[in-house]
Amino acid sequence: MNWRESARCRGTDPELFFPIGSGTSLPTLAQNDAAKAVCGRCPVSRQCLEWALKAPVEGVWGGTTEAERRVMRRRRA
Ligand code: SF4
Repeated sequence: MNWRESARCRGTDPELFFPIGSGTSLPTLAQNDAAKAVCGRCPVSRQCLEWALKAPVEGVWGGTTEAERRVMRRRRA
């Protein structure tokens, strides 16, 4: 079974995971936190994060923002 089939975000408004605006603005930070809260209850967050670390995608995946994943990629390199 594909891990995406168990994704907690299925049925959630996808726009929640793709904040518009500056990464440090309060609305963006609040939206990131709301998306991360969904990820925090997701049974496939580890698989999602590993996928997102391999694919330079925008938005919140696996409970992380792209900026956070950039740091994780650098640490792993
Ligand atoms: S970790 Fe977050 S973005 Fe990834 S599948 Fe789960 S809910 Fe969706």
